[in-house]
Amino acid sequence: MSLYEKPAHVLHDMLVKKEISSVELTNDVLGRIDAVEGKVGAYLTLTKDAALAQAKAVDEKRAAGEALGYLAGIPGAIKDNICTKGIKTTCASKILDNFVPPYDATVMTKVKAENPVLLGKTNLDEFAMGGSTENSAYHVTHNPWNLGCVPGGSSGGSAAAVASGSAIWALGTDTGGSIRQPASFCGVVGLKPTYGRVSRYGIVAYASSLDQVGPLTRDVTDAANVLNVISGLDEMDSTSSPAAVPDFTQALKEDVKGLKIGLPKEYFTDGMDPEVEKAVKDAIEVYRSLGAEIVEISLPHTKYAISTYYLIAPAEAATNLQRYDGVSYGARVDGIDLVDMMTKTRTEKFGEEVKRRIMIGNYALSAGYYDAYYLKALKVRTLIQQDYTEAFKSVDVIMCPTAPTPAYEIGSMISDPLQMYLQDICTVPLNLAGLPGISLPCGKSSKGMPIGLQIIGKALDEETILRAAYTYEQTQSYHGVLPTIGGEKA
Ligand code: GLN
Repeated sequence: MSLYEKPAHVLHDMLVKKEISSVELTNDVLGRIDAVEGKVGAYLTLTKDAALAQAKAVDEKRAAGEALGYLAGIPGAIKDNICTKGIKTTCASKILDNFVPPYDATVMTKVKAENPVLLGKTNLDEFAMGGSTENSAYHVTHNPWNLGCVPGGSSGGSAAAVASGSAIWALGTDTGGSIRQPASFCGVVGLKPTYGRVSRYGIVAYASSLDQVGPLTRDVTDAANVLNVISGLDEMDSTSSPAAVPDFTQALKEDVKGLKIGLPKEYFTDGMDPEVEKAVKDAIEVYRSLGAEIVEISLPHTKYAISTYYLIAPAEAATNLQRYDGVSYGARVDGIDLVDMMTKTRTEKFGEEVKRRIMIGNYALSAGYYDAYYLKALKVRTLIQQDYTEAFKSVDVIMCPTAPTPAYEIGSMISDPLQMYLQDICTVPLNLAGLPGISLPCGKSSKGMPIGLQIIGKALDEETILRAAYTYEQTQSYHGVLPTIGGEKA
């Protein structure tokens, strides 16, 4: 097994035991990038030289007898909507194609304190708006399991990098499923923490009441370990939670005896792919056999979740994206006067999907429509939150598919935005309620595409979903198995 196939916790142990050096590991991953990145296209920016310098520095620290942080010397990738000091952060948009942040996002400060090796910035749907990474203004990312399929989105680059062996771990963001759904499509683990668990400072805002940063990793242990690194109160983000951060690694126990698992009947809908439904139901049977108790529950307002999300998210996006006006930073297209300059800049530099959402958002917020759309959506959001509060009175976790289908073909849905929005049915309700969720592989379709199981937890109870995910993972053999990419074996 090559080094780039291993999870971070295994590599960490090997580094600590001096079985490998970080330079050796980094060269191995860079070699893999050279072999497959041309086919997968996970990255927007690669920082190979800096990565090797970071690896060398870690090896020197180790030689000097210094203790190694969990991510020390381990190559990872960062979604390109997370501000990285001195490294271009484009959000996969032409409007930010010249933007080099003068500061690090808080998650970057926390990650860097561990001395990781940072490989570069990964592709996404422009401003994280989308579910396939096809909305990137730069290039399409291909699913490592089938290069003709999408990797999911919007954190498709991060998921594809981890799945292809071009990164050991990655950070993504999740506003309505953008960590969990690409994790599901690419056969890796993706965790969206509780809203407020991780600071949003320095994350390019899409929809501020929904956005969260989280890990995409080879296995559940790595997800817990990365979450340990990035969690915690931040005075730079007034919505970050003051709740104590537990040691998530301690939650990794094989024990689901007596765990009450809720199966929401509304999530197993008519449009669901039968292979997805079967894989998820088989996973539930594994839990039952391990002593968990399965309870059917109802989340009656689920049917309104898509419409609620697609009013609130665009409304917040329209507001957040007002700052790209060609004045303070980002691209500028010259015009005859200020209004002409701003109009040209925004018309030419934003992509179609971003413009569509700005228009929907401004419409929903405008006088005369505000009450009918935005305010109504906020009220329904509360009802969706209350559904979960009610359900969690009788269950410990809720399980369902992460997405209604496995990864689909590139180009097959992009011309039908509504169809694409409907794909988010299993993921957006959590963001509206602020709850944590994890996606982990639970099987393959007959075409060999990964399927994800989603586990939803109570607010600030990432520990229980990690424990449940870890327990299931121990019963499976395909976790961490890398695909053959365009004839290139793992
Ligand atoms: N697919 C959803 C959207 O397009 C979710 C995106 C996300 O989580 N960033 O908004």
